[in-house]
Amino acid sequence: MPQYDYVVVGGGTAGSVIASRLTEDPSVTVAVIEGGPSDVGRDDVLTLRRWMGLLGGELDYDYPTTEQPRGNSHIRHSRARVLGGCSSHNTLIAFKPLPSDWDEWAERGAEGWDAASMEPYFGKLLNNIVAVDEKDRNAIARDFVDAAQAALGVPRVEGFNKRPFDEGVGFFDLAYHPEDNKRSSASVAYLHPVMDERPNLTLLLETWAYRLELDGSRARGVHVRTKDGEEVYVEAAREVIVCAGAVDTPRLLLHSGIGPREQLEALGIPVVHDLPGVGENLLDHPESVIVWETHGPIPENSAMDSDAGLFVRRDPEFEGPDLMFHFYQIPFTDNPERIGYERPPHGVSMTPNIPKPKSRGRLYLTSKDPEVKPALDFRYFTDEDDYDGRTLVDGIKLAREIARTEPLASWLKREVAPGPEVTGDEELSAYARQVAHTVYHPAGTCRMGASADELAVVSPDLTVRGLTGIRIADASVFPTMPAVNPMIGVLMVGEKCAELLTGSDA
Ligand SMILES: Cc1cc2nc3c(=O)[nH]c(=O)nc-3n(C[C@H](O)[C@H](O)[C@H](O)COP(=O)(O)OP(=O)(O)OC[C@H]3O[C@@H](n4cnc5c(N)ncnc54)[C@H](O)[C@@H]3O)c2cc1C
Repeated sequence: MPQYDYVVVGGGTAGSVIASRLTEDPSVTVAVIEGGPSDVGRDDVLTLRRWMGLLGGELDYDYPTTEQPRGNSHIRHSRARVLGGCSSHNTLIAFKPLPSDWDEWAERGAEGWDAASMEPYFGKLLNNIVAVDEKDRNAIARDFVDAAQAALGVPRVEGFNKRPFDEGVGFFDLAYHPEDNKRSSASVAYLHPVMDERPNLTLLLETWAYRLELDGSRARGVHVRTKDGEEVYVEAAREVIVCAGAVDTPRLLLHSGIGPREQLEALGIPVVHDLPGVGENLLDHPESVIVWETHGPIPENSAMDSDAGLFVRRDPEFEGPDLMFHFYQIPFTDNPERIGYERPPHGVSMTPNIPKPKSRGRLYLTSKDPEVKPALDFRYFTDEDDYDGRTLVDGIKLAREIARTEPLASWLKREVAPGPEVTGDEELSAYARQVAHTVYHPAGTCRMGASADELAVVSPDLTVRGLTGIRIADASVFPTMPAVNPMIGVLMVGEKCAELLTGSDA
């Protein structure tokens, strides 16, 4: 039976950070159980601009969503099956969470996760975080930035991570190497430089963790299935750290009998530890899309086809931005086409996004068979006040204002979707929700909270409530959604977890 000091389940975004940091000490042994293959030498993975080619492919677990009465039921959630996890698959937009994001966590019981305490972890990140390079700044994206500034009066931002902001428009910071468009993913930054040099780091690739082993309330190890179908038990002398992401972490806990008693009993899964919050609080950043045809083709240069964005604060009382836009240098018509719109030969899109959505979803099992994918019910746009739906309507209206403004206006031939005839709030809302998509930010399904919080799954030291020898570190521990894209927050969770582990050794 193989035994390691630490067993990290998931060599993804947070898992890569933790495995790398723990093995800085040559006396500590770590095994990483990773469901996917290595990303080393794979141009299809390592070239940032090829990210869209990975969606739905052999490196994507590709999770469907349940029927969404007020949203789009056709959304598929890409989750990467490769070393580096979703940081090997995503667009690498790199935002340090805003101070208000961390402070909100602390207010909700995540003691020690306030903005001042979290700031140092950003400085520790090994990823190459840089603004979109000049050569990658497409002319139409530059004109979008100018038009948004002129139309809405928001400041132009050069370097969104330099200081906190409530509003602003500009090119993103990305975790990439502009000279060859290569990713600076978690695996590239944290594992590639050390993986051949550290005998204390073992990567068990294409190996799937299907059950956690507990001895009473203490986690002892993980049951895994290798690529060849062999079942192996991997033991952790010190701790198991689950980093399988916001979908697969609760999935693994539930199949191990850790979760809401009622759900487990109904499926015939023996209850090992009744923990009602597992799978609850499913968060995401949904967005909608407005598409324009352009008069002609768009220049080719880009980092990843959505290099600039806009943040707006509609409500001056709100802490941070309350509406966000990605600007796509492509006609992003996957969902509009499903309801009859046509893809123009060339075009652009703006995607109004809800930084702080109020709707809350839920992940649950429908079968005791670990092979069956869990149900993801995001309950998009179901919040009581329809705050989420209204945000998209406001977004479409603002997008139109920007499109009417030079220097963007003269690029645009016509609005393709929803089309200029769709103007009423109800019609706009119906369109916006029907064609809504995800930017793949599921989070919150094993959320962190104070000891008195019955629905918290992990404590502020990331240990699973009521158990020992097991922590969770990935997007599932987010108590609430940051207003910005979450990857940097996940990397910082990884850094903090590594420090908690090495600190607790002392
Ligand atoms: C297409 C796409 C675009 C995105 N764009 C951005 C962006 O531009 N900026 C941003 O901030 N965020 C973006 N995100 C979101 C961001 O990438 C994620 O929030 C973040 O990477 C999640 O990290 P994680 O550690 O929680 O999970 P992951 O990185 O998904 O890691 C989980 C790992 O665990 C492995 N695993 C899962 N289950 C098991 C199991 N049972 N056994 C063994 N291994 C297992 C998986 O193979 C994976 O490697 C995007 C995501 C996607 C998919």
